[in-house]
Amino acid sequence: MEYTTIVNQNRRAFLKTLGCTCCVPFLLPSCTQVAITERNQLSIYPESVINQNAHNAYQNIKKESKLSINKLHNRQLNTVGTRITKAVQIYFENIGKKESLDNFDWEFILIEDDSLNAWCMPGGKIAFYTGILDITKNEDGMAAVMGHEIAHAVAKHSVERASQAVLFNIGSTILDSVLDGALSASRVDDYVVQLGINLPFGRLQESEADYLGLIFMTLAGYDNTASIGVWERMQEASKSRTPPEFLSTHPTPGNRIKKLQQWIPEINAKYT
Ligand SMILES: [Zn+2]
Repeated sequence: MEYTTIVNQNRRAFLKTLGCTCCVPFLLPSCTQVAITERNQLSIYPESVINQNAHNAYQNIKKESKLSINKLHNRQLNTVGTRITKAVQIYFENIGKKESLDNFDWEFILIEDDSLNAWCMPGGKIAFYTGILDITKNEDGMAAVMGHEIAHAVAKHSVERASQAVLFNIGSTILDSVLDGALSASRVDDYVVQLGINLPFGRLQESEADYLGLIFMTLAGYDNTASIGVWERMQEASKSRTPPEFLSTHPTPGNRIKKLQQWIPEINAKYT
């Protein structure tokens, strides 16, 4: 039998097993639930691996980037980040989901760069670019973007994306490696370090990050209506110059502002 036939047969058997019982040791656990929204998500890529890759990539970025030395802005960023992550920690303890934050080591940096950009890598490694401060304007605005980025991390969207990639996107290469017993998978690692920075999340994940982000900033006592102003200014900025970096990895503001307006009363009633 030819090698490719064996691999294809193995792959079919592998996927069948996955679909039926999820009992392949490498892939356990295959499914998790996002806290608060309770959406089921694929989770076959190990969080420890993705976090380690993110940690390494973040260290490199810190070395290679020009970090802002503006004391006020750095203090604001750390205040907002710490306030929100502490509020999230307390809330998760109260709802019995404390363990889902066990692998986070939050860190916030401000990069001196005119790009309108901010991102969060898996495990809680966050960066804001000084350019986006024109959009956030004040601490509440900063909290809106911070809440959104923290939400991507807490909801483990990168683990989900990497898992989807393993299964559907670049799955054939990876599965061949798995089936050969040689998961070097450097291609996955390359992919993984891009997650949270250059690769857009899916629409569902964006919407979930908007929703959770609003909740998180509200829990921390920020004015969640500031999120609307942020997206309006982002929309305005996209008209007047090259599309903001942030929008290249995020869907355009469009109806997300409408959704935020719908969610705010509900969130205020439940989380303030
Ligand atoms: Zn996002």
